[in-house]
Amino acid sequence: MKCSIAIIGGGIIGSAAAYFLARSGHAGSIAVIEPDPTYSVATTPQGAGGVRQQFSLAENIAMSKFSLDFYKSFDQHMSDIPNLPDINFREQGYLFVVTKDGEKTLRTNQALQSSMGANAELIDYTEIRDRFPSIERDDIVLGCHTPDDGWIDPNAGLWSFRKAATYLGVTYIKAKVTGINSDNTKIKSLKLDNGASILADFFINTAGPWVTSLAKLTGADLPVVPMCRVQHFWKCTHILEDLPLIKDESGMFFRPESDGFSGGRPSFDINPGFVNDIYSGYFANYFEDTVWPLIAALVPKFENLRLQRSWAGHYAQNILDGNMIIGKYSPYHDNIITACGFSGHGIMHAPAVGRALSELTLTGRYQSLDLKRMEITRVHENEPYLEVGIK
Ligand SMILES: Cc1cc2nc3c(=O)[nH]c(=O)nc-3n(C[C@H](O)[C@H](O)[C@H](O)COP(=O)(O)OP(=O)(O)OC[C@H]3O[C@@H](n4cnc5c(N)ncnc54)[C@H](O)[C@@H]3O)c2cc1C
Repeated sequence: MKCSIAIIGGGIIGSAAAYFLARSGHAGSIAVIEPDPTYSVATTPQGAGGVRQQFSLAENIAMSKFSLDFYKSFDQHMSDIPNLPDINFREQGYLFVVTKDGEKTLRTNQALQSSMGANAELIDYTEIRDRFPSIERDDIVLGCHTPDDGWIDPNAGLWSFRKAATYLGVTYIKAKVTGINSDNTKIKSLKLDNGASILADFFINTAGPWVTSLAKLTGADLPVVPMCRVQHFWKCTHILEDLPLIKDESGMFFRPESDGFSGGRPSFDINPGFVNDIYSGYFANYFEDTVWPLIAALVPKFENLRLQRSWAGHYAQNILDGNMIIGKYSPYHDNIITACGFSGHGIMHAPAVGRALSELTLTGRYQSLDLKRMEITRVHENEPYLEVGIK
């Protein structure tokens, strides 16, 4: 098969790129190679779906602003596409809470977010308690509340982009890329596990936590590794007020989910790699020993919760600085780009990144939002571009 653009990996990032390319109307033929239409091990369906403007880097805030607006008006953007699932955007806000140690950074970040047009409000502990009486932790001195933020159903988001792309003419191929043929400057074709080959003029590697193993097939390297993150769903025996997605300096977060809550705390000291069993080894008793004490310290009514289930997903973790890498990444081949290493922010940034990948593919430049600072150069120069504060 021959196409104009071949996308490796049809998670939310690859599918958003496919959608924006198809929507442009002048991308030619597009194929997405995705081995698992159930997405049973992909990162996207395991995510919390949080969409927030609370960042310290201008690029992340700008990507969130575009994506938040896009998700809020998803139905309008997709009004010509039939039978899409409801992405269930829930505008219930985000609340970051900090102790004295995090106060200065939270203030600085909020000032930048506000200057960029985000509705981000600093509130002291008394005001936090007034708005959200379930919170009771008296070392909290300050919060930043962004009521316009919220969350989507990540699986529905993925499938909406995929179905819209398909409706606009994109072909999804159920296969795994196992080899890449190239000459000295160009990628020529992809070898698939079913024996077929896909020839294309341009390639996009959006294989999530598998992105580095695909990059290695053409001699390129990326500082991106799979990092296991476990999430939990629990029910509370008390009825609580409507809470936003809450996050503290430990990385602990939770949000309302149907008749309970989902959340967790990233395991910062775990070794990279895929984890299949979360009931033995590192994650045995993780909820009881690590997560539960943190959530109950903030919301004492969680002391007598009922854990319903736990599951694992894998961040594509950028070990240089925890931020996305976008654009060309191969020292040899100039017709392949990536967007990877989201380290926990890929769902919220998918619309902005899909649009940026489409622009890069079609014009070689960013047209809407300059993301040059997020490119591979910083990796080659060993200059981390870090978020500060709650990540
Ligand atoms: C517990 C948890 C909570 C999270 N919470 C949030 C949140 O609140 N907000 C947020 O924005 N983000 C969150 N994230 C992060 C977010 O889920 C990811 O950043 C995002 O889903 C990445 O999407 P992706 O398309 O890059 O990767 P994936 O969804 O992993 O898609 C990659 C695809 O590549 C395919 N693939 C792999 N190998 C090959 C191959 N050889 N050939 C072809 N295809 C291949 C896979 O099958 C897969 O479908 C969370 C993640 C986890 C784990």
